[in-house]
Amino acid sequence: THFGEREVPLEEKQGLVNDVFHKVADRYDLMNDLMSGGMHRVWKDAFVANLAPPRAGKRPFEVLDMAGGTGDIAQRIKNASHGYAKVTVSDINTDMLRVGAERAKSWRYQDGVEFVEANAEELPFENNRFDAYTISFGMRNVPQIDKALREAYRVLKRGGRLMVMEFSEVDVPVLDKIYDLFSEHVIPPIGGVVTGDEQPYQYLIESIRKFPKPKQFCTMIEDAGFSRVTHTPLSGNIAAVHSGWKL
Ligand code: SAM
Repeated sequence: THFGEREVPLEEKQGLVNDVFHKVADRYDLMNDLMSGGMHRVWKDAFVANLAPPRAGKRPFEVLDMAGGTGDIAQRIKNASHGYAKVTVSDINTDMLRVGAERAKSWRYQDGVEFVEANAEELPFENNRFDAYTISFGMRNVPQIDKALREAYRVLKRGGRLMVMEFSEVDVPVLDKIYDLFSEHVIPPIGGVVTGDEQPYQYLIESIRKFPKPKQFCTMIEDAGFSRVTHTPLSGNIAAVHSGWKL
């Protein structure tokens, strides 16, 4: 991983990632809207529609939203399930969780939501607990992705589903060029203006470029034990959803 000019060893990556989200926590939601032109909302809606959490059932439907940050996915899951799903929002960063817990006070469905500080590489949850594990724009921040995928597999029930949304590799001619220009020349300056620091956004772009390509990422998900692994592009594959089942 690069951070500015320097090659960063894996052991140092998490510390740098944490600094980034510590710095931006309070303005994270605003930044998302500005930098994606509101698109992250559309992608998150599509992601949760694809998960299709049930609205009723014999047993509770438990979701772990990993790297859940300020709770965007959790809130959508609560709404989509009319409050039925139980959601554990987990993130390594207390500041993101603090902002999320504060925001959750104005959610329509507030019961059955928990905020738990944890590292995706080493989860404090028992085996076979969750019906679904979601992670939205979080996986690229985790230094050891294979470890996080194995943990996801461990905490899911048989029949449980993994869903990963992440920036991907734009596969539409011309759009890819526009996207590159946008990443390099628009995102860091917006970040600089809103948070007073361009560097975290330099990191953002680099982490997107370094993330495994769809085919390779599918293989990693399979290697962690998942079956029926799929890749679904969103908006010309600017973002993508990877899904797999613990069967
Ligand atoms: N899921 C939210 C969303 O879609 O808006 C937040 C995504 S935010 C770009 C990435 C999040 O990953 C941050 O909140 C960060 O603290 C969290 N994170 C980074 N490394 C992590 C790790 N090893 N374990 C858990 N969360 C991590």
